[in-house]
Amino acid sequence: MKKILIVGGGASGLAAGIWAAREGADVTILERNDKPGKKLCATGNGRCNFTNLHPAEDSYRGSHPDFVQKALSAFGPEEAVRFFDDLGVLCVSREGLMYPRSMQAGTISNALVDGFISSGGRMKTRERVHRVERTGKDGFLVYTDTWQYSAHCIILACGSAASAISGAGMDGYELAHSLGHHIVRPLPALTGLRCGGKGFASWAGVRTQADASLLIDGKIIKTVLGEVQLTDYGVSGIPVFDLSRYALRALEEGFRVELSLDFLPEIPGDEAEAFLNRRKALCPNKTVRELLSGWFPEKLARILSTRKDLLRALKDYRLDVAGGLSFEHAQACSGGVDTREVDPESMESELVPGLYLCGELLDIDGNCGGFNLQWAWASGRCAGIHAALDVNGTGGES
Ligand SMILES: Cc1cc2nc3c(=O)[nH]c(=O)nc-3n(C[C@H](O)[C@H](O)[C@H](O)COP(=O)(O)OP(=O)(O)OC[C@H]3O[C@@H](n4cnc5c(N)ncnc54)[C@H](O)[C@@H]3O)c2cc1C
Repeated sequence: MKKILIVGGGASGLAAGIWAAREGADVTILERNDKPGKKLCATGNGRCNFTNLHPAEDSYRGSHPDFVQKALSAFGPEEAVRFFDDLGVLCVSREGLMYPRSMQAGTISNALVDGFISSGGRMKTRERVHRVERTGKDGFLVYTDTWQYSAHCIILACGSAASAISGAGMDGYELAHSLGHHIVRPLPALTGLRCGGKGFASWAGVRTQADASLLIDGKIIKTVLGEVQLTDYGVSGIPVFDLSRYALRALEEGFRVELSLDFLPEIPGDEAEAFLNRRKALCPNKTVRELLSGWFPEKLARILSTRKDLLRALKDYRLDVAGGLSFEHAQACSGGVDTREVDPESMESELVPGLYLCGELLDIDGNCGGFNLQWAWASGRCAGIHAALDVNGTGGES
């Protein structure tokens, strides 16, 4: 019987485990925490936005974002909904963002663990893998603090360094690197951005609808509309999260990075001046501050009203991006195992036969809105099925 060890019992490891066990393999998950799926339980503000029915062309990023295509076309959002339905989870859509009907992330995590165990899989918790060795042609040895395991195939599903949740860290990158893989330097993604300058305390706490545009060396590369959160260090909120991976990689490469906030996105740029004049004429007795108080949260109105060029402040409020928050404050990482060294059809390493990799450990990251978990399910499934059917692994028993 094909013996598979999965390192990591998070989203992608559990998905890989279920599909490998369904193919008849003897599967064991080694998880370093005292229980599997800890990060999963924190997703979507504890509600788990597990997929998105409306993927866009740029929902996935990485050095080679096309890498996702094969796995996602075999297992897309509809398949994910069906998969969880089969595991007993009733799902609901919030404008295409899918959640368990219970609105509790634990429902998804429990369903995966139950699905894995009932398919014949074994779960070993408090087992932190610190070394994986290829043993000649015939398999692998895996070392934890207390034990040594052998297997025909290994699936690395250790996730990324993002979040302060126990289990997040560099282990997966180090294990993959020790087996010969190159790692694209991991950086925080889906995180707030620290901005240069002072006085952010005076706008902290404001949430407002805005178009956030990212400028790299003065050129707009992407604009995202949504609720921007103004913070004491700069800016946050979903549009900023979605821009953060580009901003932080550009800073890393030495480019000048700015954000431009359009606080009146519903008024086209060429109509903004006329709009402003019309509103002033309509309320001739109001000061600019009083005028803006009718449009924006009070703190923001006060700040915008002090700007000399009001039109610019409203439509192109510039911020110098100085950096991001730490890995602990990020929801995902950009970077990871170089996808040129992994077969997109099977998730098998091109360097080490019988080694498979999946999930956020790879140099793929998704937008906010369920895309990262969709990648975990699709890549995990792909790795699990192909590891189970792998004809190369003929390795030893433990
Ligand atoms: C706060 C927060 C909210 C999020 N919300 C969403 C959301 O709503 N929708 C969405 O799509 N994405 C969301 N994400 C991202 C999503 O959680 C991840 O992309 C996804 O969990 C990645 O799956 P994974 O299997 O690669 O890694 P993980 O789920 O992190 O699993 C990796 C597992 O490997 C274990 N492990 C690590 N090293 C070892 C080792 N050496 N030995 C044994 N075990 C090890 C870890 O303990 C962990 O259990 C969120 C992330 C965070 C932090």
